[in-house]
Amino acid sequence: MTIQIQANTAAQTIIDVLGGFLAAPPAGTPPEVVELLSLMIGDSEAPLPPRIYFEAVEQSPVAISITDAEADILYVNQTFETLTGYSRDELLGKNQSILSSNATPKSIYKQLWKTINEKRTWSGTLINRDSDGADYVASLTVSPVLDQAGEIAFFLGMHRDVSHEHELEAQLRQQKARIETVLDAAPVLVVLLDEAGKVLLDNHEYKKLLGDLRGREPVEVLREALLEQAGIDPLDVVRAGRSFKNVEVSIDIPGRRGPLWFSCSGTPTSEVDGSARSYFGRNRSWERHLLLLANDITARRREIERAHLENLRARLAEEQMVHGMREALAAAVYQMRGPLNVIQAAIGMLERSNPDPTTLASMLAQISASSQQALATLKVALPEETKEAQAPVNVNELLRQVLELETDRLLAAGVVVDWQPAHVLPKLTGQGNHLRCMFKHLIDNAIRALNETNKSHRVLRLTTRAIDEGVEVEIQDNGPGIAADERYKAFEPFFIGWRNRRNRAGMGLALTQEIVNQHGGWIQIDSDFRDGCRIRLSLGRPVTDE
Ligand code: FAD
Repeated sequence: MTIQIQANTAAQTIIDVLGGFLAAPPAGTPPEVVELLSLMIGDSEAPLPPRIYFEAVEQSPVAISITDAEADILYVNQTFETLTGYSRDELLGKNQSILSSNATPKSIYKQLWKTINEKRTWSGTLINRDSDGADYVASLTVSPVLDQAGEIAFFLGMHRDVSHEHELEAQLRQQKARIETVLDAAPVLVVLLDEAGKVLLDNHEYKKLLGDLRGREPVEVLREALLEQAGIDPLDVVRAGRSFKNVEVSIDIPGRRGPLWFSCSGTPTSEVDGSARSYFGRNRSWERHLLLLANDITARRREIERAHLENLRARLAEEQMVHGMREALAAAVYQMRGPLNVIQAAIGMLERSNPDPTTLASMLAQISASSQQALATLKVALPEETKEAQAPVNVNELLRQVLELETDRLLAAGVVVDWQPAHVLPKLTGQGNHLRCMFKHLIDNAIRALNETNKSHRVLRLTTRAIDEGVEVEIQDNGPGIAADERYKAFEPFFIGWRNRRNRAGMGLALTQEIVNQHGGWIQIDSDFRDGCRIRLSLGRPVTDE
């Protein structure tokens, strides 16, 4: 027998008809049938008549269907109609496969049928197609209903539209994938740790270091390094709710020549716990995590070390050269005494009597010979001019390097540097070392001038700007300045205007002028500047593509 329960009204009609039947059951009706039918329509006197169960199913917010053993639909509730878009009339007698979509793999249906035919409940997800042909994600449970002989009589199906949850899940997965892509593309090691130091999230750079460390957890190694080299335990810092930034540490890698250097930063983050008890916020607790970033600065550190060594080498070479020159000059001074003594003797001889011309000639020859010898000694001591190839140079970079070299001297002299570089300068073709020496000389001059004043506020201002066909540089100090009549003479060789002339040759500005000329520029002492000395110079020859 197939029971087809139609609409609400039809159900009511059935219940009414059964009520009339039970009021006067035909003679010979088995008592079990009367009992069963009474149970179905319920007893109006009972506290909870079975009809209530029927209404509960009918009005349930879940789509419910009852099918026969072949999945032909016998009953659907209101939500089923609303969700699928089909009316009961369209559904009754049809197979549940009316909802099937080719987006569900056949293997899922097979599994469903295998389970329910074994008299077990099946739960899973299918893609259903509604009456308009639109797909939705259905979370379905199918339970077999057995008859008294234990055989399958009906199937009870219950499903919900979980498309929205699926969409949210997909969005979450997508967001996670996006975050992972960004993290993996970052050239910085990123790792998220819980309070116990367990890794919750990491990126490609982290995994790379894990490989280099041959399986030792990079977090442990970095933590050790931070503790030993900077006295920071990142987990303690995070527990205290503090953060740390740009702490540089080194770690040694087995099989690598030099250490790896990292600049580490740690930021505490808080995450709310996801337990059921925290749902309404009353029992909400926060878990502290640490976001650790480690930037590989090995190349930069190596560059600094290389520059340091280079600087040291240059200083040593300079000291060696000065030492050699002192030796040669001392020898020349000693040798000059010979001809001077002979000159003195010749003068004495001329003053006393008529000198013998042959003796005088021999004395002059002696003077000439020892002078030649002293001259030769001096020539040997003359350092060779260094040859340097032309290359693209950035004036801001050169000035910055010189300032760095001069830091100690500037600090010792109590000079405040006012560095006003142009944001962008054209690259010039030039000789970097010659230009560095030139800027160093001009800055040394400024420091020397400032040391000759009693001013407590000592300022060195360096300004660069781009001009047509090159770069202009101003080096300005608030020292004593250069008197108007000495401004031109200052560029002449051997001119010395310092109060303290010791160790000065008076060649600095003359050589500066030469270097500026070689770079197609000009140099002058600004006559309009009254509060000290302002040297203005230009350098030409921008880099061209040819
Ligand atoms: P079908 O030709 O119907 O069957 C595909 C495969 O399923 C067959 O190859 C076979 O392996 C298995 N199969 C089908 N019928 C039987 C059977 N009587 N005995 C053993 N194996 C069988 N499907 C949905 O798509 N959406 C639903 O919401 C849905 N709800 C259901 C609710 C209930 C109570 C039941 C019993 C079934 C439900 N089904 C549902 C399953 C539905 O009956 C179809 O099996 C399914 O839709 C596949 O339909 P089809 O036309 O693609 O393939």
